[in-house]
Amino acid sequence: MELFDLKGKAALVTGGNGGIGLGMAQGLAAAGAKLAIAGRDKAKNAAAAKALSAVALEADLTDEKSCRAMVEEAAQKLGRLDILVNNAGTNIRKRPEEYSLEEWKLVMDTNLTSAFVASHAAYPHLQRAGGGKIVNIGSMMSIFGAAFVAPYGASKGGIVQLTRALACAWAKDNIQVNAVLPGWIDTALTQRARKDIPALNENVMRRTPAGRWGVPADLAGIAVFLSSKASDFVTGTAIPVDGGYSVQG
Ligand code: NDP
Repeated sequence: MELFDLKGKAALVTGGNGGIGLGMAQGLAAAGAKLAIAGRDKAKNAAAAKALSAVALEADLTDEKSCRAMVEEAAQKLGRLDILVNNAGTNIRKRPEEYSLEEWKLVMDTNLTSAFVASHAAYPHLQRAGGGKIVNIGSMMSIFGAAFVAPYGASKGGIVQLTRALACAWAKDNIQVNAVLPGWIDTALTQRARKDIPALNENVMRRTPAGRWGVPADLAGIAVFLSSKASDFVTGTAIPVDGGYSVQG
């Protein structure tokens, strides 16, 4: 369907070599977009690039230079840039009083500052393309609090406000900026969490009306919608994709 057709569009997905990023990248590829994916792990990058026929970019998003170089290389190798998905993320779970400043900065730089830097670097390319789409990945921790997520929650709350600010500023350039707030999705990130928090699986199953964990493919549809013409009048939003987790009282 033309509304969701991404043929002729070029997309960069950070953290597109696994988990939610790969699920979204698969959706964009199926809709016809040319893709670049970025991450630190060469082997994961190569496997994802092969599966998606994508350009693989090695980048450490906590490093401003590396982050900017990733965007330039994506635009150069794909010939243009229309879509940026700021998905790369990490978490360190402990009580607030136990974090070092380095740990705080690592989580903030990976999850929030990198989204600003990549968007900043992508802006001239999206302008040149006559408009574009930025999709930022938040979390249930963009909405809720928890004892073990001080920097993660701050970064994911920040993602929603960054999304709103960019949406307001760049609407004049026909650039739509939206956030996706995934519920509990089965990935490497949450497999670690399941080990750290023994009651997590039971809590997620009890609290999620859909009665299951999400899988990366559950994020493919929203990625296509927010990257396509279908969402041209949608900007500044933060859309939960959570099996109902955030509306259960
Ligand atoms: P994964 O751990 O499976 O994937 C994280 C991705 O980010 C990897 O591709 C990783 O690649 C990349 N990444 C991490 N740090 C860096 C860095 N410094 N530089 C470049 N790339 C980096 O986790 P998920 O798929 O679960 O998470 C993806 C996003 O979704 C994150 O923003 C996360 O916060 C968010 N999210 C996840 C939820 C879940 O339940 N799983 C729920 C809500 C939000 P590499 O290791 O190669 O660098």
